[in-house]
Amino acid sequence: MRWSFKMGKIFGIDFRIHVTFFLLLFFIYVSALKQYGTRTAITAVLFICAIFGCVLIHEIGHSLIARRFGKEAKSITLLPIGGVATMEEMPEKPQQEIAMSIIGPLINLAIAGVLFLFVGQWSGIKVVNMYPDSMNSFLSGLISVNIILAVFNLIPAFPMDGGRVLRGLLALRMDFIQATSLAVSIGQGLALFFIFFGLFFNLWIALIGIFIYIGAGSEKHEVMLRAVLHKVPVSAVMATDFKSLDPEEPLSKALEHVYHGCQEDFPVVGHGGIEGILTRKDVLSAVHGKGVNVSVGDVMDRNFFHIAPHDPLDRVYHHLLNKQKTAAAVMEDGRLKGMLCLDSISRYFMIQNAMSTRAGS
Ligand SMILES: [Zn+2]
Repeated sequence: MRWSFKMGKIFGIDFRIHVTFFLLLFFIYVSALKQYGTRTAITAVLFICAIFGCVLIHEIGHSLIARRFGKEAKSITLLPIGGVATMEEMPEKPQQEIAMSIIGPLINLAIAGVLFLFVGQWSGIKVVNMYPDSMNSFLSGLISVNIILAVFNLIPAFPMDGGRVLRGLLALRMDFIQATSLAVSIGQGLALFFIFFGLFFNLWIALIGIFIYIGAGSEKHEVMLRAVLHKVPVSAVMATDFKSLDPEEPLSKALEHVYHGCQEDFPVVGHGGIEGILTRKDVLSAVHGKGVNVSVGDVMDRNFFHIAPHDPLDRVYHHLLNKQKTAAAVMEDGRLKGMLCLDSISRYFMIQNAMSTRAGS
């Protein structure tokens, strides 16, 4: 995630903090300092850090359960709105998705329970004091926050944990895509209610509603994409009629091909076979930074992505996105067979979608 700083590793997972989180701490400190003085301002900042510590444990819970199912979390990022565990892939079996999602809210409830045993009393949710004045109100506030976090995350709307639990439960009974569609509709219905309710009573709730609405929509898109691309091999979409570049050629030569054709990503083939890929992004940054006389071999991506013609398109699509690549070389028996770019996968998906909606109409 942009503007986030790596703080270290926890259980082998990158732990990052977004710059806006530090701004939040600064804001809390300054506003508490004006009203209550240094001591309270420091306690308020510690209280926010403690809350986010709980959020972090919640996200670690998701990541460790996902690991049990063979899915690795790439990173956990703390933002002012909460934590995000970025997964390479989500577990596919409904039981796995339920287990992975429910663990987060359960962890918050467990933290609340342990704190309650420790404090021995609890002053109730109504009195979450953001500026705790004693150890007791600090811990009591933390109990309330953890209960709120558990309940809030269990709202059955994507991308909340509750939405995933709901999809998992539905998927036990029906097809995964149908389950997603239904869960998304429920999530978006709830989101519209939040937006409407929030506009009158609390803008923060309206904002969360918008966040849920968009998150639910993109989750549906993701599932439809996977369903369409799952059974399609790379060979069905790859370009077989393409121009190659020589690593010795100047960049100006590549520009000519860009001007006079539609191709944007070029395989760079030397004497021993393919040596790299030159993408539109490489061309633009090289023209900007080094001029047009630099050789193609100097600016191409040598760490390029190569795939086989029979690889399933959905996996390739996710690998490309994860590695932030826009094109891949399709190789068979060490020879270049074609080129595949992200745009052509999106185009294929759009056409298939149009065909299926027409067939259904
Ligand atoms: Zn969660």
